[in-house]
Amino acid sequence: EGFLPFEHEPYFNFGQEDVAQRQREAYRRVREGYLGRTFPLYIGGKPVEGGETFEVRNPADTREVVWHFPKATAEQLEEAIRCAKVAFEEWRFSDPMQRATIFKRAAELLRTRRMEFNAVMGLENGKNWAEADGEIAECVDHFEVFARETLKWAQGKPVYPMQGEHVTMVYEPIGVVAVISPWNFPAAIPLGMALGAIAAGNTVVWKPASETPLSSLLLVELLFEAGLPRNVIQFLTGTDEVLGDPLVDHKDIRMIAFTGSKEIGCRIMERAAKVQPGQKWLKRVMAEMGGKDPTVVCADADLDAAAQGIVQAAFGYAGQKCSACSRVIAEESVYDELLDKVVSLARDLKVGSPEENAPLGPVIHEGSANRIMGYIEKGRGTARLVLGGERADSGEREGGYVQPTIFADVDPKDPLFQEEIFGPVLSFTRARDWRHAIDLANDSEYGLTAAFYSRDPGKIGEARRLIHVGNLYVNRKCTGALSGTHAFGGYGMSGTNAKVGGPDYLFWFLQTKTVAQKY
Ligand code: NAD
Repeated sequence: EGFLPFEHEPYFNFGQEDVAQRQREAYRRVREGYLGRTFPLYIGGKPVEGGETFEVRNPADTREVVWHFPKATAEQLEEAIRCAKVAFEEWRFSDPMQRATIFKRAAELLRTRRMEFNAVMGLENGKNWAEADGEIAECVDHFEVFARETLKWAQGKPVYPMQGEHVTMVYEPIGVVAVISPWNFPAAIPLGMALGAIAAGNTVVWKPASETPLSSLLLVELLFEAGLPRNVIQFLTGTDEVLGDPLVDHKDIRMIAFTGSKEIGCRIMERAAKVQPGQKWLKRVMAEMGGKDPTVVCADADLDAAAQGIVQAAFGYAGQKCSACSRVIAEESVYDELLDKVVSLARDLKVGSPEENAPLGPVIHEGSANRIMGYIEKGRGTARLVLGGERADSGEREGGYVQPTIFADVDPKDPLFQEEIFGPVLSFTRARDWRHAIDLANDSEYGLTAAFYSRDPGKIGEARRLIHVGNLYVNRKCTGALSGTHAFGGYGMSGTNAKVGGPDYLFWFLQTKTVAQKY
C-alpha cells in the first residue's frame, strides 16, 4: 500500500548505560514539567478547564500526588456526546488516506517521545522501564497497523457477480463510540480501541481509568498534533457515577468499546441491550474482560525455559495483566522439579520502585493490595504456601507492595485456581498426565491466554486443538502479544473476542452496505 514493510517497534535496551541514562533524564523532565499540574478535558476540539478535580497518585509512594484531572459533569458528558455526533457527520466521509497519514505521522511523533511516555506511565501505574517501554512500543505498532487497516477496509470486498447488475459491498462507519479503558494498560488499550473507531470513520468519547488519565491524554494530544481534527475525540475524566452508566445508557452512543473487569463488562452488556427512548439502533458492545491464564508443563518440556516463562508472565508488572500466568499445571513427574526452579527464580525478584526500574513494583493501590492479601490469607488454609505471602518491605515508600507469592498443591475448586486475583500470586496444581493437564487448563470460566510447554509434536497438536483460549502460546510465555501479529482477545468470560491488532478488528466498528445498480 505504498508503506514500507511492517516491522514491530524495537524495544530499548536499558542494559546499556546511555539508554538507562536517557530514561532517568526523561523521569526528571516529566517530574519538572508535569508534577502538580491540572490537565484539561477535551470537548468539541477545545481544552476545558475549571471545576472540581481529583488527584492521581504515584503507586510507588502513594503519599505523592502527581497530577490532577477534572471531574466532568453530567452537562459536560451531554455536550461531549453532542459534539461527537456533530463531528461524525464530517469525519464519516473523511478520506481513508488522510486517516492513514495522520496515524503514520503520530507514529513518527511518538518515536521521538517514547522515554517521556514511559516515565508518565511509571508515575501513574507503577510500570518499570521495560514494562512501560513494551506498552509504548505497542502504541507505535498500533499507529502503523491501523494506518494499513484503514486503507484495507476502505476497499470493500468483492462479491460474486451477476448478469445485468453492478454490485458492490462496502464498509461504512457506525457513529459515536464510547471508549472505556482500564489502568493496567492505560496507553495501548484505549489507543487500540480509539484507533479502531477512528480508522473506521467513527468519532469517540474517550473515558480513561481514573488511576491513569495522563497516559491517555498525552496520546489524544499527540493525535491532535499529528493532524486529527480536534473534534473527533472527546476526552472526559471523572467519576463512574457521571461517566459510567450514563455514558453507556445514552441514546446517541452507537457502540461501547470496553476493556476491564468481568463485572463491569457484564454490566455494560446488560445495560446496552436496553433500547432508550429516541435510540435508533441496537448498541454494539465490545467487552474485553479478565483472565485466569494457565501454563501447562509436560514431562518432556524444557523445564528451565518453562520456569523462565512462568516467572516473567506471573510476576511481570506484579501480575497485573489480563494475560498474566496465574495457574501452573504440571505433570506429576516434573511437578516438584519445576516448582523448585520457579520458586528459586521468583525469590530473586527485587521489590522496589518502578522509577528505579525494580523488577517487582507495587500493585496499583492499597485497595488492590488488601484484596490480594485476602486471597493469600484464605489460601494459607487451603493450599501449601511455598513463597512470599506477606506485604513486601518497601523501605521509606508507602504503597501496595506484595511479595511474589506461590501456592503449591492448589485444588481446582479453590478460588486461587478459579478467580482472577490480579496480583503477584501464582498457584501450582498437579496433573496425572498431560491430557489431564489440558483438562485442568480448560477448567475455568475464562479463556484469554495459555502457555503450553512440550517438545512432542503430538502433544502440541492436541494442545492447539483443545486448549480453549483466544491466545495460545507454545513453548513461550503467555504475556506480550504484539499488535499486528498476535491478534488479542479471549474466549468464554474473557469477553467478546474482539482481537485487537488483528485483521478483522476494524469490522467491529463498521457496518456493511451492499449496493446493486442497473444502468
Ligand atoms: P474495571 O472494570 O474496574 O474498570 C474499567 C473501566 O470501566 C474504568 O475506566 C472504569 O472507570 C470504568 N467503569 C466503572 N464502572 C463503570 C460503569 N458502570 N459503566 C461503564 N464504565 C465503568 O477494571 P480495572 O480494574 O480498571 O482493570 C482491570 C481488569 O481489566 C482486569 O479484570 C483485567 O483482566 C481486565 N483487562 C482485560 C484486558 C483484555 O484485553 N481482555 C486487558 C487489560 C485488562
